[in-house]
Amino acid sequence: MDIINLLSEKISNQIAAGEVIQRPASVVKELLENAVDAGATSIRVHIKDAGRSSILIQDDGSGMSAKDASICFTRHATSKLKDVEDLFKLKTKGFRGEALASIASIAHVTLKTRTNQQTDTGTLIEMNGGTPTRNEECICDKGTSIEVKNIFFNVPARRTFLKSDTAEFSHIRNEFERVVLAHTEIGFTLTHNGNEIHNVNPGNLRKRITDIFGIKSNEKLVPIEEKTDIVTIHGFVGKPESAKKSRGEQYFFVNQRFFKHSYFHHAVSKAFEQLISQNSYPSYFIYFEIDTEKIDVNIHPTKTEINFEEGKFIYSILLSSIKQALGKYNIAPSIDFELETSFDVPLSHKTEIPVEPEIKVDPNYNPFSKFGAKKSSITSSNKALNNQGFGKKSDSKEWENFYAIREENKESQTKLIEPEENYSKNKYLLKDRYLLSNVKSGILIIDTYRAKQRMLYDEMMQQFVTQPLAAQKLMFPLELALDQNEMDSWMDSNSLLMQLGFTFKIENKVFQLESLPACIIEKDCKSCIDGITKTLSSTQKPDKGELAHELISAIVYSASKATKLHSEQEIESFINLLFSCEDHSFCPFGKPIMQTLTIEELTTKF
Ligand code: ADP
Ligand code: MG
Repeated sequence: MDIINLLSEKISNQIAAGEVIQRPASVVKELLENAVDAGATSIRVHIKDAGRSSILIQDDGSGMSAKDASICFTRHATSKLKDVEDLFKLKTKGFRGEALASIASIAHVTLKTRTNQQTDTGTLIEMNGGTPTRNEECICDKGTSIEVKNIFFNVPARRTFLKSDTAEFSHIRNEFERVVLAHTEIGFTLTHNGNEIHNVNPGNLRKRITDIFGIKSNEKLVPIEEKTDIVTIHGFVGKPESAKKSRGEQYFFVNQRFFKHSYFHHAVSKAFEQLISQNSYPSYFIYFEIDTEKIDVNIHPTKTEINFEEGKFIYSILLSSIKQALGKYNIAPSIDFELETSFDVPLSHKTEIPVEPEIKVDPNYNPFSKFGAKKSSITSSNKALNNQGFGKKSDSKEWENFYAIREENKESQTKLIEPEENYSKNKYLLKDRYLLSNVKSGILIIDTYRAKQRMLYDEMMQQFVTQPLAAQKLMFPLELALDQNEMDSWMDSNSLLMQLGFTFKIENKVFQLESLPACIIEKDCKSCIDGITKTLSSTQKPDKGELAHELISAIVYSASKATKLHSEQEIESFINLLFSCEDHSFCPFGKPIMQTLTIEELTTKF
């Protein structure tokens, strides 16, 4: 008995759609790419209900003739590829001719299109789950508009897989932003349920980035530029202090196409090594121009990975161009201008030959800017010195070292061997949030707020993994003015929030907080709640771990202000606790916790 059937075009399109169209954002991506390929100078995207009800994309590109319009929904219908040679010269985004066929097979689609040659009327085509239902002349603007309604209406299983509107819309926004960042020569708008999310005019890259990420991002951008025979690289990296705990703003483009590349990502991270704290990510917007024959984009229709023929060279070019840029903009001081960050050099090590410390410090980081951190060229072989630095892990032994040094100092004081040099009556001086201590090479200054943030953060992160954080029930529920989106995002992360000590209810659209994490004082909770709401409703939704980090950071931020140290004993245990933290050099927000003001620096003051 023969059992093999040929699948109908409709079914095979639906199967293809499973690969190409995973969610509304995939439709947005494909339609945006088509509009770009059509040479549009202005592209408008209107979304309803995170793309579930409608995705409408209007462009002023080439448009399609009546004949092209009627076959564009057929599988493998493309104007971009004629023979196999073309595959290696592709300058367009699409070439498979699958997107429109796939989209039409799982939605209701209306296409209106008119070319420049058609003066009066264009073509209107309607497709219903892959079947053409209308094909007629119509009045329309030059260019193409495609509306995709009721996505997955005939594939209910797919529909139920869709996440919350917040999550789906954030996917859409991400896809949109990738295309918008790749094409600064095109103007774009994005609306969601009638609200304007983005409206950007053609302009240069700096302008485009600030249009998308806010005017504040402007001052954080460090330009990179490199021209070689293999590749041309340009774009921006974020200054180290703008590094984030989540991998939000990291973009590679090759020939105006967004791509991901863990190997190149590594090059960027390497360039930032020791300039930013562990687990934080620099932002970057890096554009490669390369001969199309030297890259392979033809791996998978939806994959964003790309193979490079000369990846290794590009890696080194990228690494050095970022390092240069950071150096040029005085973010990574060159080797002669190391800033000393040690506590001290134990006497026993004094006879060893000094080696150059590997520390790289951003002078702009200095929270004690009034001292005007000057660069010094002191070198030392001391491990504490090398490790007590920025971005590098250091073990708590260093602190023991510190005490050892202290002991030595004490001894020398009592013996009066070096009386003036190291004489100090009180070990510590507490001035507002700053704790000052006399160390051999100068004055060690600890920012107690940031230190407290680090300790609390580590403690909460550790505890949070195994059990809920301690909560305090409020005597009276606290009413907060949150809008519907914000309330939804609290609801979406309800269990995580409970784990952190927050419980709440929503009655008659009023949000009421019932308990808070125990470490927060009720009267200070406002800024914490604001921070949490902002994180929860940000469109670039982090995963659970990142979300926990963001939430705990928000809690920590509000709780740290309450730090008060009263006695020398308290100060010492505070310091001990700080140095038992793995990353005691940086607060959870990537800012330095301590600095040493060296004798040399003091000397320059007088
Ligand atoms: P591909 O982009 O891979 O060629 P698609 O299915 O996305 O395949 O599109 C099929 C064809 O329809 C394209 O090759 C192009 O000729 C035409 N087309 C699609 N969208 C547009 C548009 N916005 N403007 C003009 N032509 C378009
Ligand atoms: Mg396409």
